[in-house]
Amino acid sequence: MAAVGVCFAIGMAAGWWPERVDNYAYDFMSKRVPPPAHSPESVVVAIDDAALEKRHGVANLRGIVAEALDKLSEAQPKVVALDITLHDEGEDPVKEARLAAALLGTRNLVMPSELSGDKWADPAPRLRPANAVLGHVHFDTDRTDGVGRRMELDKAAGRDRRWALSLEAFRLWRGAEFTESPEDLEVGGTLIPAPRTGSRLLLIRYLPAGTIPTVPVLEIDRHREMIRGKVVFLGVTSLSAANDRLVNSYYENVPGVEVHAQSFETLRRGEFLTPAHEYTVLLTCLALAAGVGAVFGLLSGWPAYLTALVGIGISFWVPFEFFKQGVVFPYLPPVAVAWITSAGAATYQHFFVRRRLRQTESEKSRYQQAIHWAAHEMRTPLTAIQGSSEIMSRYNLPEAKRNQLSEMINSESKRLSRIIQTFLDVERLAEGQMELKREPFEAAAVVDACMLRVTPIAERKQIKMFLDTPVDGTLIGDRELMEYAFYNLLTNAVKYSPPETEVHVTSDFSGGELRIAVRDQGIGMDQKELKRIFQKFYRTKRAEASGEVGTGIGLSIVEQIVTHHGGRIDVTSEPGKGSCFTIVLRTQPA
Ligand code: ADP
Repeated sequence: MAAVGVCFAIGMAAGWWPERVDNYAYDFMSKRVPPPAHSPESVVVAIDDAALEKRHGVANLRGIVAEALDKLSEAQPKVVALDITLHDEGEDPVKEARLAAALLGTRNLVMPSELSGDKWADPAPRLRPANAVLGHVHFDTDRTDGVGRRMELDKAAGRDRRWALSLEAFRLWRGAEFTESPEDLEVGGTLIPAPRTGSRLLLIRYLPAGTIPTVPVLEIDRHREMIRGKVVFLGVTSLSAANDRLVNSYYENVPGVEVHAQSFETLRRGEFLTPAHEYTVLLTCLALAAGVGAVFGLLSGWPAYLTALVGIGISFWVPFEFFKQGVVFPYLPPVAVAWITSAGAATYQHFFVRRRLRQTESEKSRYQQAIHWAAHEMRTPLTAIQGSSEIMSRYNLPEAKRNQLSEMINSESKRLSRIIQTFLDVERLAEGQMELKREPFEAAAVVDACMLRVTPIAERKQIKMFLDTPVDGTLIGDRELMEYAFYNLLTNAVKYSPPETEVHVTSDFSGGELRIAVRDQGIGMDQKELKRIFQKFYRTKRAEASGEVGTGIGLSIVEQIVTHHGGRIDVTSEPGKGSCFTIVLRTQPA
């Protein structure tokens, strides 16, 4: 039940939220396997609530930026990446001039471009120093859960492409140029694996909160040492004013400027996460499936289940191991494959074992019932032999009576040996070990002999036996067995008929087929019962109620004998009206 439940959950997850599950696992692994500790090379200079309060709010943002840039020039960072768009010209020309001067005075400046419709909104020309570099400030937030796990390293508006702000900052920090190939991007010796599929994407490996130092914009002077030679990301962090906040893979709400800094740190450390190759995923899943298959091939029951559980455990652990090697392995496929193959193999094994068990059980019961039948059949002749021999030994009997009794012993012991022979034959027939005798014999001889034997039994119930049409034709096979079969049909007809009725035997010979029918006026059967009478040990309720003893094995033997002779049995019957059993056999061409 538990396995079915888990499979259901996996199935649902696989069908509906594969990305969510993979994302969730990715975030979990990022937390569990954090990037190795490095001292950061970047500083976030934050325009925070305190700064906005002291410097007349958002309306004076440009004034704050100008002041910060001037202060930063004194602190001498290596690169300044500005995360405040300056697309529009300000209204106050004096303030604009001041800002333009501050921008001009900033060494290694990266300025933000934002997509507006299908065009780049670059900084206003007056505010853009000739040597300033432009970088785009868009994040790639996941469409299913809104978490910003990736950075688009490049972004195009028509044919006009911009590198990401953090990437440009990285390039300036390295003092190098880009070298592009379809598979990756090289910057001053760092190979960034970011294939060109639409945009080149970088998985940001977030450093834990607080690892990248944040300097409040009004306290630059006090932290000059911290800033010198570093890459500064200047942007708004105030909760109320920053309009580019997002959720990172630790589920922390962070300002955009921090994400740019994190993206820069990922690039700088050069420890990139790359998605697993499709073949790696396929082969790993195949290996898991083969492993689970082997477990159920070699083991069964609890040892198999427990080992399969280990396999499932491995499937949970595989993505972690890959993650440690910098490879992002999708979480769902191995887990789903391990669970589903385990459940499938376990189910198969369960049913396979059950089927085998049922088979041996039915064989056992068949054998038991066959012995039961033989014992039952042997009881009558044995009692007769016993009784006769006892009488003979105890009493001084007249010669005629002695002869009669010894004849009886003789015929009953013959009957006994016939029963034993039939029992053995039928057993061997059932196991397919017996080769039928293949001798020609006259069908009429079989019918006559059987009718003769049944007549005294029929007379006891005042049942009249009729041979309506003479039988003709030569059959090939085992005469004894065929006699057993036909005798059985006749005794059944007598057994399951009320007294003073008639049993008719008819025969019909056409198209190389001989049909011998036994029709009675007995208790009959309904359609449902008809379907089961050839099953071993089946007896109808009506037959049980009639008081006639039986084992329910006779007809199954009859059917085997007839089919082994290449024939079949047709039955028609109606409750209370009677039954007609027809043996259909091929005859020897004359
Ligand atoms: P048995 O007679 O020992 O019970 P059989 O295998 O010969 O076993 O027959 C199986 C069952 O088929 C009988 O128990 C009886 O219910 C039903 N049956 C067989 N022949 C007849 C018949 N002529 N009329 C009604 N029911 C029959």
